[in-house]
Amino acid sequence: MIVVMKPTATEEELQRVLERVDALGLEAHLSSGESHTIIGLIGDTGRISRNAFEVMPGVERVVRIAEPFKLANREFHPKDTIIQVGDVTIGGDQIVIMAGPCSVESRSQLLEIAHAVKEAGAHILRGGAFKPRSSPYSFQGLGEEGLKYLAEAREIYGMPIITEVMAPEEVDLVASYADILQIGARNMQNYRLLQAVGKQDKPVFLKRGLSGTLQELLMSAEYVMANGNPNVMVVERGIRTYETYTRNTFDINAIPALKQLTHLPVIGDPSHGTGKWRLVAPVAKAAIAAGADGLMIEVHPRPAEAFSDGAQSLKPKRFQALMDDLRILTAALGRSL
Ligand code: PEP
Ligand code: MN
Repeated sequence: MIVVMKPTATEEELQRVLERVDALGLEAHLSSGESHTIIGLIGDTGRISRNAFEVMPGVERVVRIAEPFKLANREFHPKDTIIQVGDVTIGGDQIVIMAGPCSVESRSQLLEIAHAVKEAGAHILRGGAFKPRSSPYSFQGLGEEGLKYLAEAREIYGMPIITEVMAPEEVDLVASYADILQIGARNMQNYRLLQAVGKQDKPVFLKRGLSGTLQELLMSAEYVMANGNPNVMVVERGIRTYETYTRNTFDINAIPALKQLTHLPVIGDPSHGTGKWRLVAPVAKAAIAAGADGLMIEVHPRPAEAFSDGAQSLKPKRFQALMDDLRILTAALGRSL
């Protein structure tokens, strides 16, 4: 439920509404727009009638929110959420590009790729140190050693770093190195993990599950936010469909739908969304044209030798060409890169 205050409402009228929210055992979430202040009510609002607030002085109207996600809901918070990571602003006019290898394989591999993506204009360096692999016999990541290489690359190239955290007990360790914590598709509904990243203050990059609906994705964002962390990005990375030509089916609908449903930044990942490097650039452009606030792109100088996801990795030259195209596209859209 949201209570919309009149533009003429006084501070005292607002306080009275907040007191009633408290007396009803609910929590208030305030959002001030240009003319209206909106109070989002969090808690079991099903038992409360709209009338409880509608009759109060200063109240313009009371609206019941149909969706179960509240803090993540755009109706609760009409303005876009902006997440600041060092010098990088996510969710504003600028399109933010996160690029790097699927896995951190070695110090030299990571530094080589960090240099290449920085040169091409990427803003944030990605790289997995803890890898969620389908097979227990596949490379599982370098663990803390990989985090150290990422931190070194951040120092050298001046780029914030994003990396995946897979377990609640590893959140503190990963957060002590990373600027952004990635929750992988396979963990989208790992509620203990969502609670753990909600209780620390690094921004969270939440990937859509392999068969997660948009509502389930936003309920997972809600878990993080309800635990105290408002800085969540939601990520379309492709879903399972009957199509087997591509690794996943990139759901282009998800981008504008999420932009309408939530105020959180929406990011596209065409690398995992397609699984094929030849499809990455066109789908990346489609995601930006559809309204995404940024992209995650896997880059590797020798894809055939990559420890993971070589088939979907762009060589640095092709990544550079994509960035050149994105510069033209973002300008046409009234955004920047
Ligand atoms: C990744 O980013 O390398 C990754 C494992 O992604 P996802 O969780 O989307 O499969
Ligand atoms: Mn990958």
